[in-house]
Amino acid sequence: MEMKPVSDHCFAVLNEKNRVCDANSGLINRAGGVVIDTQSDLAHARQMIELFSKVWPAMPQRVINTHEDADHVWGNQLFEGAEIIAHRSVPERMKQVAEPKESQKLLHGVGHLLMRLVLKVLHPGIVAAGQQLREDYNFDGIELVLPTTLFDARYELNLDGTEVHLIYVGPCHQVGDTIIHVPQERVVFAGDVLFRQCTPMGWTGSYEKWFQCLDLMIQLDPEVIVPGHGPLCGIEGAMEMKAYLQYVRDESKQCFDNGLPSLEAAKRIEFGPYGEWRAPARLYMNVERAYREFRHEPPDAPWDTAGAFDAIYRVAKAKGIEVEY
Ligand SMILES: [Zn+2]
Repeated sequence: MEMKPVSDHCFAVLNEKNRVCDANSGLINRAGGVVIDTQSDLAHARQMIELFSKVWPAMPQRVINTHEDADHVWGNQLFEGAEIIAHRSVPERMKQVAEPKESQKLLHGVGHLLMRLVLKVLHPGIVAAGQQLREDYNFDGIELVLPTTLFDARYELNLDGTEVHLIYVGPCHQVGDTIIHVPQERVVFAGDVLFRQCTPMGWTGSYEKWFQCLDLMIQLDPEVIVPGHGPLCGIEGAMEMKAYLQYVRDESKQCFDNGLPSLEAAKRIEFGPYGEWRAPARLYMNVERAYREFRHEPPDAPWDTAGAFDAIYRVAKAKGIEVEY
């Protein structure tokens, strides 16, 4: 984990491995301090706080959660008394998708040989993902701390003269997707609307919404974008992700029209230049999302998470690459 200055008053903490749960955090060191996203477990959250303390010595008084996913909200409890700001949908969604008990059980389960063997027969993908997570994370002690200040379309902060605009753009990756624009410093904190040098995963929302949001980010003309996952970039990061999503949707349509199931399609579609991104087999999620749209299913249709992780495992095996999430 390392801290990088982004502009005069904006900073980022980046996780180098860039795998699932390796989410970035941001800091704006003005008017009490604002942290954007709080990491995946308490150890990472403490390390993030320590790194940011070099440029903002007090505990930040505000937290923004860019959306409801666990890896962006599980350090919230360390910011005692802070105002936590998020889109109106986020508290209810956090209860649905970021309840820590299941993940705690999973990490303990894959640590036990017998449990692991039984699980492996049923869900090889869950075992592989669980073992990977155990290398870097410990979910013990995490309690859900929900946002306290909720907004609908837009929310603005004035931090001693530095304007900060929270813009709701969901659902494209998750229901609560919010980007944070600091116009005077030409910075956008993108949350998981932008994955950089790693394969995007989306849970709720449509391709169309995601394209609109990437276009909006490009129009805002930032000098630096802090992605939810991956290294800092400029607008080329948004352009590349748009090109990836377009490529996957087009390829998926051909497979769909030829009657291939989504798993077979994901095995068959070439990674192309995106094979160099981290965890390319996560392609399956994007194929399945496209299929849902072709089948006219609602963007919030629930996922079989275990099935999705198993499918990613099978795509990686079929392609002869390392299983990685
Ligand atoms: Zn996310």
